[in-house]
Amino acid sequence: MSTRSFLVPDDIYDYILKVTLRDTAVQRELRERTASMPLAVMQTGPDQLQFLQLLVKTIGARRCIEVGVYTGASALAVALALPPEGKILACDVSEGYTAVAREFWERAGVARKIDLRLAPATETLNALIAAGERDYDFAYIDADKSNYDAYYELVLQLLRTGGLIAIDNVLWGGDVANPAETDADTVALRKLNEKIGRDERVDEALLTIGDGLTIVRKR
Ligand code: CA
Repeated sequence: MSTRSFLVPDDIYDYILKVTLRDTAVQRELRERTASMPLAVMQTGPDQLQFLQLLVKTIGARRCIEVGVYTGASALAVALALPPEGKILACDVSEGYTAVAREFWERAGVARKIDLRLAPATETLNALIAAGERDYDFAYIDADKSNYDAYYELVLQLLRTGGLIAIDNVLWGGDVANPAETDADTVALRKLNEKIGRDERVDEALLTIGDGLTIVRKR
């Protein structure tokens, strides 16, 4: 089980996976292992992971940030798409889930590309900014929705001009488009979508893949 578009019928989604998916055996095993775990629906869908890989390769990314690791499928996908010298700084707070991630990163031979930081991501990102770190090429934000705006602002500071941020779950099952939905996560996502929609610092596209994926490019 993983996040798939609620807008695409099952038979069409199955067709897309059958015809286009190029994931590795380790990626498939990780997907199966995660499917049996709590919160399995949080796992990014394999079609979306492949799209992230395409973005990483297209912009020639070398330095990446991930906010929200869970069991490591997205960091694994990005690491596989990076050149040998490429690196991902991966932020999460869960020892348990990232233990699974580490196991599969090792098995896929990409562990040395991934620098896991177990701390609140705002702390890790603020420390990078304070240390003068800049010029990251690519970031994937897929973590607690109430902090999305904070992650967006911090990652934007760390990104180079022309760098990309992919932000997951921006349609939230469609709830963002339903004014009757006023829970904290929906409101946070709705506000961020509206803010990015008029943010002159970036170019933007919101894709209907998965649960909605916003791509922004830093101007
Ligand atoms: Ca997600």
